[in-house]
Amino acid sequence: MADYDYFVIGAGSGGVRSARIAAGHGAKVAIAEENRVGGTCVIRGCVPKKLLVIGAQFAQDLDDAGRYGWTLGERRFDWPTLRDHVQAEVDRLNRAYQATLDAHGVETFHARATLVGEGRVAVGGREVTARHVLVATGARPLVPGDVPGAELGITSNEVFHLEALPQRIAIVGGGYIANEFAGIFHELGSQVVQLVRGPRLLRGWEPALADRLLQISRARGLDIRLSTRPTAIRKAGAGLEVELASGVLLAVDALLWAVGRVPNSKGLGLEALGVALGDRGAIRVDRGQHTNLSWLHAVGDVTDRLQLTPVAIREGHALADSLFGSAPWTVDHDAVPSAVFSNPPLASVGLSEPQAREQLGDIRIHTADFRPMKNVLAGRDERAFYKLVVDAATDRLVGAHLIGPEAPEILQALAVAVKAGLTKRQLDATLALHPTMAEELVLMR
Ligand code: FAD
Repeated sequence: MADYDYFVIGAGSGGVRSARIAAGHGAKVAIAEENRVGGTCVIRGCVPKKLLVIGAQFAQDLDDAGRYGWTLGERRFDWPTLRDHVQAEVDRLNRAYQATLDAHGVETFHARATLVGEGRVAVGGREVTARHVLVATGARPLVPGDVPGAELGITSNEVFHLEALPQRIAIVGGGYIANEFAGIFHELGSQVVQLVRGPRLLRGWEPALADRLLQISRARGLDIRLSTRPTAIRKAGAGLEVELASGVLLAVDALLWAVGRVPNSKGLGLEALGVALGDRGAIRVDRGQHTNLSWLHAVGDVTDRLQLTPVAIREGHALADSLFGSAPWTVDHDAVPSAVFSNPPLASVGLSEPQAREQLGDIRIHTADFRPMKNVLAGRDERAFYKLVVDAATDRLVGAHLIGPEAPEILQALAVAVKAGLTKRQLDATLALHPTMAEELVLMR
């Protein structure tokens, strides 16, 4: 007899959901967390990030207010107030996650766990046994090992706790996290220089959106440098000196690494057990989240496929239903919507134009390039851009890509249409809801 039916390592998005669902099916479940219950998304990812985005957005709204007739008093931003309110919300969610585990009878070990044999887990100075073990240990920010002084920079783990708002910040990376923090710090009043290794932002995203973000960001005063990278970082007074590959020296107060996330699979005992690992140590799983060992499973970022919270949650849910419930199911990774909460934000679902050309050949592209009403009155010459990708053979919508105010909110609804395989004709048959930005989606001819 094992001590538990299910032992979950990592109380983040995927682990908590899986533990709770398994317990709901009557399994005896334990979960181990070495940091804070809630994981990356709740503690140092999506949630505090989005709250900072909302906080930063006020800068623009306050700028616009005058054009809309408002006279405002003195305007001042206080970073500790925003930081502490965000952390209070993180604390509340942390307690809510713990309460959910407790309410479902899941035993929590506040300790690091490692695998020491088949169904054997070392945790908190003890060894326990389980019929099934789930690795849901997530990923961590990559800090390059080949840049002298790299450790002087911070990552997304530390950025939420800064003592003071940096006057000048270098943000290294061109992915979604880098662009989101570039927007946040710029709006809050920092001087931002973004250093991107490749020739464009947001590799892998619809290029038209990435190009629009670059153009708008630069027009707003963000210093975005493409095809460059830091080669050394040194202390300089209270700040840092960043040396670029070109030899250029930058003086900043802080440097944020946002150059990718590595699966947390090291030191767990996986190699000794012969667990199949992929690139960068990602745990290999099949469609059902099973590793090559029958008792060991993995979900979420540690599998390094789609590093998104809703994906980790759904994988954890499907696995628990499949192991302990009566109706097994798997997660469909096709047409998963995702967003970049940059300023302006962008959001995508399905195939980009280059992907569709490669996979389908014959496609139609429909676009809308317009100035949102809000921007017109504010006197801001920033245009939104929407692109629909349609399979010419079937008229089916296979991709949708939006940049502009509220793009992620609009795209979530449109993702239903892409997932359901609706046709462009069906979109056109829908009447516009006027005046909105989203009406453009049914007005593209
Ligand atoms: P995690 O949530 O990372 O949970 C893993 C947990 O395991 C952690 O709590 C860790 O401490 C713990 N752990 C690791 N090793 C051990 C061990 N040996 N023993 C015990 N515990 C261990 N996704 C979105 O969908 N939308 C967003 O807007 C978004 N924004 C993000 C912004 C930032 C700055 C970051 C960093 C990420 C963001 N993400 C976003 C990604 C999202 O956070 C992850 O995809 C999601 O958290 C993955 O869930 P997970 O369960 O795989 O891992």
